[in-house]
Amino acid sequence: MADAVLEWMRKGIDTANQTLQIMPSIGIALYPQDGDSVDELLKHADAAMYEAKRGGRSAYCFFEAHMNEAGMRTLKIQSALHEALDRGYFSLHFQPKFRGDSGDVAGAEALIRPNHPELGALVPMDFIPVAERSGQIVQIGYWVLRETCRQIRNWEACGLPSTKVAINLSPRQMAQPDLIEKMLEIVHSENVDCSQIMFEITESVAMQDAARTTDMIREFQNSGFEISIDDFGTGYSSRAYLQRFRVKQLKIDRFFTNGLDAHGHEGSAIVQAIIALAHSLEMDVVAEGVETVSQLDKLKDLQCDEMQGFLLGKPLTADAFSELLHDRMTAA
Ligand code: C2E
Ligand code: MG
Ligand code: MG
Repeated sequence: MADAVLEWMRKGIDTANQTLQIMPSIGIALYPQDGDSVDELLKHADAAMYEAKRGGRSAYCFFEAHMNEAGMRTLKIQSALHEALDRGYFSLHFQPKFRGDSGDVAGAEALIRPNHPELGALVPMDFIPVAERSGQIVQIGYWVLRETCRQIRNWEACGLPSTKVAINLSPRQMAQPDLIEKMLEIVHSENVDCSQIMFEITESVAMQDAARTTDMIREFQNSGFEISIDDFGTGYSSRAYLQRFRVKQLKIDRFFTNGLDAHGHEGSAIVQAIIALAHSLEMDVVAEGVETVSQLDKLKDLQCDEMQGFLLGKPLTADAFSELLHDRMTAA
């Protein structure tokens, strides 16, 4: 049956002017071996469905006992996230971004870190998707903004130069109808100027509903926030969409920065094309994941506006970031 469903879906569904392609993931639990109550069977079918998703779309999967462990782990992460939010067991790290021409600090990206006994060893890639699925990312996102504002004010109070901070937005956050309103409330109550906050939207998320994204970007910009398209190059947008989005910044995905070393002439040609595209639309370009001197040199040659990566600066605690700003200021 599952094969047949997948086969139908693969053929697509014809509507008036286009064919819709759906890529379902199917999880299967069997009675009685996988459970003897509706709840249990549904829970196990759900676990099998996530396993099918992990293996790529358009697939089905039968429940197996080890999937329960994955489910248990998810539940554990969810409850730890809940506790972390309640008790303030999160912190933010700030990764500096540098100007390509002068080498000055251009701003920072806020990256969340858990300080929780059970989450401690986890990286965002492990728990952000869990928080996204459970919806907890919405509250976490508000916390991130508030904490970022607090740090911006701290730096200012120490007499450090004003710093623009980029904050990542996830799809679930973007689906909140009152997102911008809430963000404005936080920024105002923390006494920070909207122009000091930039939100990063990944290209693939931006493209999921490009029309809606365009409206949201406009609304963010009208409120005074800046927008950046993150992980650019991985999400199949076109010049036409970029023109509509009209954002401040494009962040070239790490993959392409890495390609400057790994893919020779072709690697440079792609980055050059992205930079030319962005500049033709009056956007700044940031290269992510700069790890080697040769990448840095090539990016400078290609007139990349800003660089971010382990070579120039790892994500730092707020205090360490203050020191960086302080050292730069006194050196200048
Ligand atoms: P991202 O927005 O693309 O963030 C950049 C990631 O690349 C960070 O990982 C950063 O530590 C890492 N990175 C920076 N420079 C280098 C480099 O030179 N080499 C390599 N290999 N990696 C580098 P991190 O902190 O683990 O974050 C991963 C992702 O998790 C982020 O990707 C972002 O999508 C998400 N994330 C992090 N913090 C938040 C948050 O507060 N809210 C939301 N919604 N998502 C977040
Ligand atoms: Mg980012
Ligand atoms: Mg990125």
